[in-house]
Amino acid sequence: MRLAPKPEISVIVPCFNEDAVLLETTRRLTASLEEIGRPFEIIYVDDGSRDNTARILTEIHGSDSRIRVVRLSRNFGHQVAISAGLEYARGAAVVLIDADLQDPPEVISEMVSLWKQGYDVVYGTRQNREGETAFKTVTAKWFYRLINQLSDIAIPLDSGDFRLLDRKVVDALLAMPERDRFMRGMVSWVGFRQGSVAYDRAPRHAGDSKYTLLKMARFAMDGILSFSIAPLRLASVLGALSSALALLGGVIAAGSGLINGRWMAGWGWVVLSVLLLGGAQLLCLGILGEYLGRAYGENKRRPLYFVRETLGFDEPLLRASDTRIQEEEHRSARAGFEG
Ligand code: UDP
Ligand code: MG
Repeated sequence: MRLAPKPEISVIVPCFNEDAVLLETTRRLTASLEEIGRPFEIIYVDDGSRDNTARILTEIHGSDSRIRVVRLSRNFGHQVAISAGLEYARGAAVVLIDADLQDPPEVISEMVSLWKQGYDVVYGTRQNREGETAFKTVTAKWFYRLINQLSDIAIPLDSGDFRLLDRKVVDALLAMPERDRFMRGMVSWVGFRQGSVAYDRAPRHAGDSKYTLLKMARFAMDGILSFSIAPLRLASVLGALSSALALLGGVIAAGSGLINGRWMAGWGWVVLSVLLLGGAQLLCLGILGEYLGRAYGENKRRPLYFVRETLGFDEPLLRASDTRIQEEEHRSARAGFEG
């Protein structure tokens, strides 16, 4: 039986309806990885694509066995697709990269050399964002500022999910069972030795962004709510403020009644204060609800995703003695997922 070398570098590429870019992505990725000269695998995670992504990936796998495919049972979203890829990756270093070539594969070799120097996480920081809308650039910037203000972790400004992770870090991430998987927060939270390389973010090679405005908003909420409980404190702050205001108003009203004999009357005040308090209460309830909803989601303990099929993970690897056993364990741990 033909034995494939155990990959040293695994590259995970989540794809959702990416048929327009896959051939070019594969060409450039393979070229840059071959340049590095270490055994590698490319894992495409097909996140429930509805276009020709599945067919193209099957063809690509057929022509190069170093390219493997994990096909999820439906669209689970970018962050979950990455998590799925992490479970399947076998390399000593794992690189996360988008399918659309916005993150240039050529940067991987720089990441690998930093990794060789002892960094456990090497993230790419975007120097400029050519070809992205001003809206996206501005919202992204404010989002990172906000999340760093609100949470106790520091997420490097202007870094996406394009990064290299050492096996230690991958195992740490896999040990985190949470369902709201805000990867860049999680990577920063686990610690280890982190370094960065700067790169220019290119425009999308083809196709449209798969992040709708709604997906982006939900992603931002996940980021903030899974790493900070500051919004919960808003209730106390607003409560204290409105109580102080009410107290002050009461003193003024009583004072003016006692001194001038002009007792404050007027339904306007009543309506205003009801509106003010009602609004504050609803807001705080909503925020509580967000956390509660998330806690509910976590409590259901559902698997993060289901796999419909995999291509290329059955062949035994070279250095069978140790890797095979690991793989068996890995597979049985996953068996539940694959149902
Ligand atoms: N993606 C995914 N599932 C989704 C949405 C996106 O796997 O539900 C993948 C997509 O195929 C791409 C990466 O996530 O490889 C980043 O998406 P995109 O380029 O559309 O986002 P943007 O760069 O516009 O933020
Ligand atoms: Mg993109």
